[in-house]
Amino acid sequence: MTVSDAQLAAIYQELILDHYRRPRNKGALAGADARAERRNPLCGDEIVLEVAFDGDVVREARFSGRGCSISQASASMLTQALRGRTRAEAEALVRQFSALVHGDAGAAGDEGLGELRALQGVARFPARIRCATLAWSALDEVLRGA
Ligand code: ZN
Repeated sequence: MTVSDAQLAAIYQELILDHYRRPRNKGALAGADARAERRNPLCGDEIVLEVAFDGDVVREARFSGRGCSISQASASMLTQALRGRTRAEAEALVRQFSALVHGDAGAAGDEGLGELRALQGVARFPARIRCATLAWSALDEVLRGA
């Protein structure tokens, strides 16, 4: 299943394509403290998320993977948004992002989400929510296990 132009246009096409074509923080993370993998067989997306902590704070997050533009752009944005946050802040971000892609109006208006708000249009395409939340599900596992 590929993402149609019409879907992308409704989901802030430019930002998503920019992250898809020039992913931030992509590749293995040497010295990672935690790692989680996720697959979305419906779309063929794969994500490996690696995180290094400095005490309670995320020092660095990197991802590897392949798949549709939404899954990869979401992972790229996640790694950018995560750096410097405490575990509690990261957990709150996971919840707020989930609310965003499920159509929550409060989350859509939350400027604290920054570029992540580009993915709010996913709420209109239920089949794509799993693409957008794949990396976030991996992050949830990292935060529970680490
Ligand atoms: Zn996908």
